[in-house]
Amino acid sequence: DVTPEVKQPVPDTPASDVTISSRDRVIFPEAKATKGDLADYYAAIAPVMLPHCANRPISLVRCPQGRAKKCFFQKHDSGSFGDHVKHVPIREKDGGHEDYLYLDDAGGLLACVQMGTIEFHGWDSHVETLERPDRMIFDLDPDEGLCFEEVKKAAADIHQHLADIGLVSFAMLSGGKGVHVVVPLDPGHDWDTHKDFSKRFAEAMSLAEPDRFVATMSKAKRKGKIFIDYLRNQRGSTAVMPYSARARDCAPVAAPVGWDELADIDSAGRWTIADTDELLARAASRDLKGWGFAAQVLPGL
Ligand code: ATP
Ligand code: MN
Ligand code: MN
Repeated sequence: DVTPEVKQPVPDTPASDVTISSRDRVIFPEAKATKGDLADYYAAIAPVMLPHCANRPISLVRCPQGRAKKCFFQKHDSGSFGDHVKHVPIREKDGGHEDYLYLDDAGGLLACVQMGTIEFHGWDSHVETLERPDRMIFDLDPDEGLCFEEVKKAAADIHQHLADIGLVSFAMLSGGKGVHVVVPLDPGHDWDTHKDFSKRFAEAMSLAEPDRFVATMSKAKRKGKIFIDYLRNQRGSTAVMPYSARARDCAPVAAPVGWDELADIDSAGRWTIADTDELLARAASRDLKGWGFAAQVLPGL
């Protein structure tokens, strides 16, 4: 006599077979948010996060004892993430291959959370077209002391300059200090072309307004300026994925925003993992319709 399995009603978000242990462990002491809260956030946000994150090689920021304790950046699997987290062999500079991680469902996000992951970072290319980047990122890093107002102005200027050369771009609050300007691209050109274009674009901005912008890593030259970090655009580099939580005070998330509404936002950590409903409603709103997607190629290609 076998009792038939009780079929659960199908929820809006895909059910996952991943078990989250220690749900009560506090991961964000400032916000008193637990591992269970973080897992619930990712389970709920998965439908709007996965279109950006799925099938890209990812790196994880893991903080098994919480965000205030030791965290580490992980690119490779030590073998224990389970079936939801997939592997793709990627050629290294030395000619050898290393397995990188990617995921394509909510279970993948949750399996990573189960392993202490807070942040998801991704490549600018997808696993099926690894050598063809399809997203360019200008990561605006303000020098300490610069106000968010300056970062917003910089993002708006970059948006305008990109529009002038025919490129659609989108804004994302990093959840940390800055704003990322994201340029979706068709996967056609190679990594050298990708990095070179972003470097020349950033250098042109800093050449035109050397008091506001700098395009070199050197900390000394950044004083009072915004570093246009174009180095996210090279093979092997990553940037934080839209809707990823951040391992910082108060559990902020990387949040897509519309260009119009950016003017009224006063911090890159405006939304947190406690704002799931608002983030989901926003994602479906007119401001964010089509956010992060555009069929376009770099000018001149
Ligand atoms: P903020 O707005 O505070 O700058 P951010 O996500 O842009 O937030 P950056 O310090 O500018 O933070 O991030 C640079 C990027 O470098 C990160 O998004 C991440 O993908 C990558 N990164 C961070 N830590 C490491 C690491 N230990 N190894 C390799 N790459 C890293
Ligand atoms: Mn940054
Ligand atoms: Mn940066």
